[in-house]
Amino acid sequence: MSNVDELELDKFSQLAHKWWDKESEFKPLHEINPLRLGYIDDRAGLAGKTVLDVGCGGGILAESMALKGANVTGIDLAKKSLKVAQLHSLESGVSVDYRCVAVETLAEELPGHFDVVTCMEMLEHVPDPESVVRSCSRLVKPGGWVFFSTLNRNAKSYLLAVLAAEYVLGMLPRGTHEYGRFIKPSELGRIARHAGLELEDISGMSYNPLTRTYVLGNDTGVNYLIATRRPLA
Ligand code: SAH
Repeated sequence: MSNVDELELDKFSQLAHKWWDKESEFKPLHEINPLRLGYIDDRAGLAGKTVLDVGCGGGILAESMALKGANVTGIDLAKKSLKVAQLHSLESGVSVDYRCVAVETLAEELPGHFDVVTCMEMLEHVPDPESVVRSCSRLVKPGGWVFFSTLNRNAKSYLLAVLAAEYVLGMLPRGTHEYGRFIKPSELGRIARHAGLELEDISGMSYNPLTRTYVLGNDTGVNYLIATRRPLA
């Protein structure tokens, strides 16, 4: 049984040509990218590391990590997105190894292979997020870092991430996010611990509508990042 929602993949495939358009539906991902990149690099030190980006899409985070000197592999199951990612990498000259493979399959192939695993804004699009977290845990070396980001589940995230972003402001296409799949930080923390990962930090990425910028901080109400590590032995 595969851990994929084909409708979700279709949504991303249809938008794939827009991955690198900073004014498109992917604008929020471009805007939060420097924050999450800094968050990851501050903790894991990306230069020279072997990194896996799970659900890499068009490669926004993957390329930026490669620019920091990491040796990055990006995986996704939306073929069109991977094509766009590959083309962009050729154009930018920032090399990333892109593969169309399920994280569960790669975990069988390369257990304990990566220094760092990142999985951003992806868990809320899959039927079984726990299986993704377990696979990420298997893929990382003992002592290595695993980072996740996703959407919290509460009235505020529903208002902002679904109603405002999709229906009022039209920032995202309707149906981009399914509220029932949002995950509370406490739930993700528990899932990570069950998968053998130690929780190091939870931080929020919040949007200030006045300055129209995102900031990293304590407000985990809508979008948040968690940093975890696989114990050394
Ligand atoms: N991580 C990227 C893209 C986030 S969008 C970023 O933050 O910039 C969510 C991505 O998850 C899409 O590229 C989508 O194709 C991918 N995705 C959804 N379900 C997936 C699955 N089951 N396996 C792998 N990737 C999946």
